[in-house]
Amino acid sequence: MSLTSAASGENYRNWWPHPEMTAFTDYSIGLMEEIAAASGNRIHLTRRGYALATRQADPDGLLRQLQHGYGAEGAARIRLHDRADSASYRPALSADWREAPDGVDVLQDRNLIQRHFPSFDPEIANVVHIRRAGDLSGQQLGSFMLEQIRTLGGTLIQDKVIGIERSRRFEIETAGNATISADALVNAAGPYVAQIASLLGESLPVETVFQQKTAFPDTEGVIDRRMPFSIDLDGQTIDWTQEERALLADDPATRRLTEPMQGAIHCRPDGGERGTWIKLGWAYNTQPSAVTADLPLDPSFPEIVLRGASQLNPGLRAYYGRLPARLSHYGGYYTMTRENWPLIGPMRTPGAYLAGALSGYGTMGACATGALIAAWVASEPLPAFAKPLSPARYANKDLMGRLLASENTGVL
Ligand SMILES: Cc1cc2nc3c(=O)[nH]c(=O)nc-3n(C[C@H](O)[C@H](O)[C@H](O)COP(=O)(O)OP(=O)(O)OC[C@H]3O[C@@H](n4cnc5c(N)ncnc54)[C@H](O)[C@@H]3O)c2cc1C
Repeated sequence: MSLTSAASGENYRNWWPHPEMTAFTDYSIGLMEEIAAASGNRIHLTRRGYALATRQADPDGLLRQLQHGYGAEGAARIRLHDRADSASYRPALSADWREAPDGVDVLQDRNLIQRHFPSFDPEIANVVHIRRAGDLSGQQLGSFMLEQIRTLGGTLIQDKVIGIERSRRFEIETAGNATISADALVNAAGPYVAQIASLLGESLPVETVFQQKTAFPDTEGVIDRRMPFSIDLDGQTIDWTQEERALLADDPATRRLTEPMQGAIHCRPDGGERGTWIKLGWAYNTQPSAVTADLPLDPSFPEIVLRGASQLNPGLRAYYGRLPARLSHYGGYYTMTRENWPLIGPMRTPGAYLAGALSGYGTMGACATGALIAAWVASEPLPAFAKPLSPARYANKDLMGRLLASENTGVL
């Protein structure tokens, strides 16, 4: 919980371009709900959903993607609201995950959208409200799991793995000069998953891409504390002043910030209804880089993401050039396969397993990842999506061809 997991935005969703990923996160969310119910919601699971906003008047492409992502039952899970006085849409007034509807609501009338999302750009023509989505405390989830492990007799050894010998069993050598013998080994080393695999003589098809987030107190009260996690789906050119644009365009390192950028900027209230903070993110970096302990945080990221996020919530312009001093700016590496599916399951080395490449969804996918790995190790029955999410999928040329041809890999 101190490396990538500490940098998580702690959001979850069952919205994906492919039904296998929808099934994976649905499974994980179900397990999180069980933990929330058993622990008096110690993990602060909320469910106000994800609101995906676009200025595109014709939502057909988006609807087709939704139907595909939700699989065979897709159409039945999607409700359309195309009138200003539509009373069938239930706004996310409560954060309680037990009260939220399932499925997806599509708001297709500008007046209806303004009524329920008054801070949004009035040009927004369609809002897709994914209902099985929200946020949670990843730290509490991690602590809860650790306590369960200890209660069941597990022990935690904090040390660095530097070598692995495979004889009858695994002999795991650590920097602290210990040797741990094991029948099974689960490689869950986050951004170092490929390094650990190399100790077994295996290479993994993963890359690490640095991503950042920022959070600050919304002192001007721009964002409604009940606003769902909101995403501007549309690409944009950032609205720099002429002076700023000229300066940025002059420098080859910053020129791309003056050119058209991809969408998917997100913003959400952080810290509940009585809190004041908001969190912003934009995964515009697509360049893989080597993992370094000294994180390559870009000091201009908060201002860049603020500009981007102001297209959907124009009230945020109040912070241009004067972001609050109490600002937090952090980051970590998305460890990803090209298709953005995880690697959960057996490695080529018998007895070794992978629980990695969890990209930007490892907090929401943690419970399912643990449950799948446990089932693989114990040779228990597995759900249908387990094999496609394991390294075995690379033998399925047809599936890989389709995945690599996908326009949308669900990166947020
Ligand atoms: C900016 C950002 C925002 C994100 N937002 C979200 C979000 O909103 N929702 C979501 O679901 N996910 C999100 N994610 C993704 C999520 O944080 C990751 O997928 C998840 O944390 C990965 O967990 P992990 O356990 O695989 O890796 P890590 O948390 O990195 O854990 C790896 C562990 O392995 C240990 N390790 C590595 N090498 C060794 C070694 N040689 N010996 C011993 N131990 C070793 C490390 O010390 C560490 O404890 C985000 C990620 C980032 C970077």
